Amino acid sequence: MSSTNGSSKKTVTLIPGDGIGPECVEATRRIIEATKVPIEWDVHHAGASIFKQGLPSGVPQDTIDSIKKNRIALKGPLETPIGFGEKSANVTLRKLFETYGNIRPVRELPGVKTPYSGRNIDLVVVRENVEDLYAGIEHMQTPGVAQCLKLISRKGCEKIVRLGFEVARAEGRKRVHCASKSNIMKFTEGMLKRTFEEIAKEYPDIESSHIIIDNCAHQLVKKPEQFDVIVTTNMNGDIISDLSSALIGGLGFAPSANIGNEVAIFEAVHGSAPKYAGKNVINPLAVVFTGVMMLRHLGFFEEAAAIEHAVFVTMEEGKVMPRDVVGDEKGAPTTVFTDTIIANLGRKSKEWQVREYKPVKLPHISEAADFVHATTRNAVGVDLFLESALGSEELGRGLENLTKDGTLKLKLVSNRGTKVYPSMGTSTDCVDLWFCRFLHSDEKHEVTDADIAELLKRVGNEHRWVHVEKLQSFNGESGFTKAQGED
Ligand code: NAP
Repeated sequence: MSSTNGSSKKTVTLIPGDGIGPECVEATRRIIEATKVPIEWDVHHAGASIFKQGLPSGVPQDTIDSIKKNRIALKGPLETPIGFGEKSANVTLRKLFETYGNIRPVRELPGVKTPYSGRNIDLVVVRENVEDLYAGIEHMQTPGVAQCLKLISRKGCEKIVRLGFEVARAEGRKRVHCASKSNIMKFTEGMLKRTFEEIAKEYPDIESSHIIIDNCAHQLVKKPEQFDVIVTTNMNGDIISDLSSALIGGLGFAPSANIGNEVAIFEAVHGSAPKYAGKNVINPLAVVFTGVMMLRHLGFFEEAAAIEHAVFVTMEEGKVMPRDVVGDEKGAPTTVFTDTIIANLGRKSKEWQVREYKPVKLPHISEAADFVHATTRNAVGVDLFLESALGSEELGRGLENLTKDGTLKLKLVSNRGTKVYPSMGTSTDCVDLWFCRFLHSDEKHEVTDADIAELLKRVGNEHRWVHVEKLQSFNGESGFTKAQGED
C-alpha cells in the first residue's frame, strides 16, 4: 500500500502504558505497520513504573523531550493512584503540552449487538481538556472542608468551540451542540455557552444549538442519533463520552485524540483495566481506532481507511471477535483478533462506509495572556472565607461588632453557598467554613487594598481566615454570584 501524505517518514513517540496498555499498543503498532505506512516509533515510558521509581509526576524528562521533538504520541493507558499523593500522569501530559481539545468519536460497529443497534449512532464529543475541575487545583479549606477550583477561560472556550466546528467541517457533519450547565454555573459554564453562541455565527453552514448537560445525558440515552458533534467542558465531556461509548458496546471501542497547537497525543478513552493485564484477552480496538485517528492527523488518510475497513470486515464476518462482544468463552485472544484484522487489510466492507475525512483546520488563537480587556472594572467588596466553630448568629453579630467603624460592612454570612446570617429562619446544615460578604459602607467608593488589609486585621484578631475573594464588576456587570437567599 502506498502512503498518502507525500510519504515523508514520521516519527511517533510510543508509550506502551500500564495494565492492558502494552497489549493494546502492540496490536495497534502491528496493524499500522502492516499498512506499510512510513512511521517509525520512539518508545518511551510514563505511569506506574515511573511513579515506582519515585518521580511524582509519573512522566520522565526523556518522554517529555521525545514528545516535544516528534510532536505526535500514541500512548497506552496510564494508571493513576486514587485519592492520595501523585497526580494523574495522563492529565500531566495533556496539560504539559496544552492539548486543549479531546476528540472522542463514538460510532456503531458491525457485529456489536447493543440495545441501540441499527440506529446509526455516529457522533463526536469534543471536550475541553485542560481547564475546569480537572486542572486539579484543590485546597483543604478547613480539616473538614475541601475545595476544587473550576477555572474556565474565555480563551479556553474559544479554542474548544472553534475546534468543535472545525471537526464538524472536516468530517462533513451538519450539527454542533454545546452542552453546558450554564443555568447553574452562570460564569464558568455560562462562558462556554456565550462563546459558543458568538462563534457559531462564523459557521453558518453548520446548525448549532445549546443543550443543558443533564438533558444531554438523558437525550444521549433516549435518542443518541440526534447528535453529531457535542462541545463541552472537561468533566462533563469525560462523563458523557464514557456514557456514549457504552451505547455502542463499551470502552473497548472508544478512541480519542488530545489536540494542541504544537503536539497531539492519541490514547484510548479506557484505562489500564488491571484485571485483564497480560492475559491476552482484551479488546484492542479502542487503541486501534486511536491509531486510525493518529494516521488521519498525520495525513495518512488511505491507510487509516484501510484499517477501518479491515475492522469492519472482521466484525461483519464475526468469526473472530473480542471477548467483550461474544463473552469470555468465545472471545478470541487479542493477538488472534489482531492477526485477523491484519489478514483483512485490503478488503472493503460493502455495507459499512468509511466517512470522508479532510484535515482538521486547527484554530489559531493569539497566545497573548491578557486576552479579554474590560473597559471598566470596579472592586465593590470582598468575600472573606473563615474557619469557625461558632453558630451563624454568634459569628454574624461578632463580625458586625468587629467591623462596625470600618469601611467594609458585613452584608451576610453564608455557609456552603446559602445565606445563614441575617437568618432566614431555614435549616441549613452548617460546616465550619463560612463565607462572609463585606461591601463598602459607601457604595460610590471603590474598595482599596488598604480597606481589605484593615478588614483582615480586624477579623484575623478573632478568627482564622482562610482566603479572600475580591468582589468585582467588569464593564458595569457584576462579576460574582449571589448566595442562595441573598437579595
Ligand atoms: P478502565 O481501566 O477503563 O476499566 C473499566 C472497565 O472498562 C474494565 O473493567 C472493562 O469492563 C472495561 N474496559 C476497559 N478497557 C477495555 C478494553 N480495551 N476492552 C474491553 N473492555 C474494556 O477503568 P478503571 O478500572 O476505572 O481504571 C483503571 C486505571 O486506569 C486507573 O488507575 C485509572 O486511573 C486509569 N485510567 C487511565 C486512563 C488513561 O490512561 N487515559 C483513562 C481512564 C482510567 P468489564 O469489567 O465490564 O470487562
